[in-house]
Amino acid sequence: MKQEDCHDTLLSRLRDVYCAHPDMTAFAPFPEHVTPQQVRSRFRSVCDMMRNDPDLRSIAYTDAMRAIQDAGPTMHWRETYKEDAEGAGFMDRLGCYAVIGNNSPFTSPSLRLFALYMPAGLYYPSHRHPAEEIYLVLAGRARFWRDGAPDQILSEGEAVFHASNQAHGTETTDSPVLCLVAWRNHFDVLPVLATDTDG
Ligand code: FE
Repeated sequence: MKQEDCHDTLLSRLRDVYCAHPDMTAFAPFPEHVTPQQVRSRFRSVCDMMRNDPDLRSIAYTDAMRAIQDAGPTMHWRETYKEDAEGAGFMDRLGCYAVIGNNSPFTSPSLRLFALYMPAGLYYPSHRHPAEEIYLVLAGRARFWRDGAPDQILSEGEAVFHASNQAHGTETTDSPVLCLVAWRNHFDVLPVLATDTDG
């Protein structure tokens, strides 16, 4: 498949999932127009981990999951916490690329959209960012926590909202997880790890 076709398929599968989920459409409408742009791919080994993970299974979102896996090699895999000493331990196995945003095949002034993969047995420590955020689990399950709310184990079809600068984190145990993540507002500040002292 040509790269543009692969990206168009991905966008269309994710739009279908997004628009069918009331929590996502309540968070922000899916942009009516997104602008295609060139993406400079950046491969990371977690891409192959995601594509070959035999335990990554979805019932309702198989098409979206496959589209995320298929597009993987053409995408710009993020290295958000690589420069952070605390991040060294988990960043190799934290897989994330943007579908709508910077270094991604599409852009929009109103929404950012990411695919996020974590293999089984990964602890993604508390972090924060000014953008408001929603996670929708597409496959697998994980424990999600956020400041001021009880922990939740979320599986396929379940979503969680993070307010601006609310510290939050995720842990997988016996299963991997694949999420669709959307951001609204304050796009241009990257996430930082939350230290013990600031929550
Ligand atoms: Fe976040």
